[in-house]
Amino acid sequence: MFEAEKMQLIEYGIKVFKSGLVQGTGGNLSQRVGSEGQYYLMTPSGIDYDSIEPKDVLVMDMNGSIVEGERSPSIEHGMHREVYKHREDINAIIHTHSLYATALSIARQPLPEIESTIVLMGGSIEVAEFARHGSMELARNVVKALSNKKAVLMANHGLLVAEKNLERAFKGCLGIEQCAHMYILARSIGEVCPIDSEKCDELREYIRTSYGQKKKGN
Ligand SMILES: [Zn+2]
Repeated sequence: MFEAEKMQLIEYGIKVFKSGLVQGTGGNLSQRVGSEGQYYLMTPSGIDYDSIEPKDVLVMDMNGSIVEGERSPSIEHGMHREVYKHREDINAIIHTHSLYATALSIARQPLPEIESTIVLMGGSIEVAEFARHGSMELARNVVKALSNKKAVLMANHGLLVAEKNLERAFKGCLGIEQCAHMYILARSIGEVCPIDSEKCDELREYIRTSYGQKKKGN
């Protein structure tokens, strides 16, 4: 079941890998599926992104049971599930180990609202406290630091982006990585000036009401 969605997840896994956001089999992706959003598709553990086939993608439920699939899911499947359980607005999650975002997570420094990408992800990107990879403690720390935003850094580990769909999650991962790079460069030459909060609110409102093509007939 969910064959088209499995193909889409595989396609985005390859994009994540080819963009250099992960090395080898690192990172993981998931997508919420089902008429009531009661399941999620999870990438398998330890299989190269360009070798994953639809039968390797797991269908899981919100109790963590495997509904379909023979493979072991990514060790971070509990982290993805906890985010879905706490955030009804989220339908796709990508977790990467991208270089500059991870560097910030090691310095335990959040990424402030230095550029529109961060503003539109819901505000400064916080660092979730460290916990062992694959642990429920890590899942809880991620949910807490994510709050009602779209992204969170994971201490000494990487980045998680939670979005409405895979396309937005992928673009979010690329955008945050670029902003983390810009931030580290800017910090290296002087003081950094984030956009002030009033202007951030103004930008969010402007994008919400004015950006993109107007729908005809409305
Ligand atoms: Zn990881």
